[in-house]
Amino acid sequence: MSRRHELADGLARTRERIARACRAARRDADEVTLTVVTKYFPASDVRLLADLGVTDVGENRHQEAQEKAAETADLGLRWHYIGGLQSNKAAAVARYADVVESVDRRKLVGGLSRGAVERGAVLPCLLQVSLDPPEQGEGRSGVHPDDLAALAEAVVAAEGLELAGLMAVAPLGADADQAFARLAVITERFRADHPDATVLSAGMSGDLEEAIRHGATHVRIGRAVLGERPSVQ
Ligand SMILES: *Cc1c(COP(=O)(O)O)cnc(C)c1O
Repeated sequence: MSRRHELADGLARTRERIARACRAARRDADEVTLTVVTKYFPASDVRLLADLGVTDVGENRHQEAQEKAAETADLGLRWHYIGGLQSNKAAAVARYADVVESVDRRKLVGGLSRGAVERGAVLPCLLQVSLDPPEQGEGRSGVHPDDLAALAEAVVAAEGLELAGLMAVAPLGADADQAFARLAVITERFRADHPDATVLSAGMSGDLEEAIRHGATHVRIGRAVLGERPSVQ
């Protein structure tokens, strides 16, 4: 099978899963945007995906994202930065990313704002909220739900940034359905203060059904579309 056929096949299966999950949740399939996570895969795959109708792509490492976005600048894709972010790289990411989904602390806000202003475009930002159980100190990254309101205010106040919504990753080994049920409660409270920040990015290859059941507007899918990532990074 050619690479194009493999990707077309992965995309068709993924879109069918999204459609089925939306039907089960009595939601319209066009309420959910598919972001294809292309990390570790070459720019040639990004090009094939764009040709197959993909509009949104995600990357989690600054240098790789920057290079791929530059190599495929002619395609008009929306680049989602979804990875851990060092504050000294924030301005650089804001210069090519169309959305930053992983804003999890105030220290990032200054750099993102500076990069967005230099670029002359408003940068939509999602706050990455931690769904780790409270007793489990060190988990995946994200702002603690208690600190979400203050971080949201910092983004709202920053020049060049737009508070667009929330992002989350289900904790490793946890029940995704329970984790995303908690996320739905957090999201409802958050939207009471920020009604225009309607994006909810949740759900990966292994748990997109649970995320859609609990209100995800964007799913971030890598392996189910592109296949297993090379294990050496
Ligand atoms: C890699 C990654 C994904 C995609 O994961 P898959 O299991 O390959 O679908 C989604 N979100 C984030 C934050 C990631 O780093």
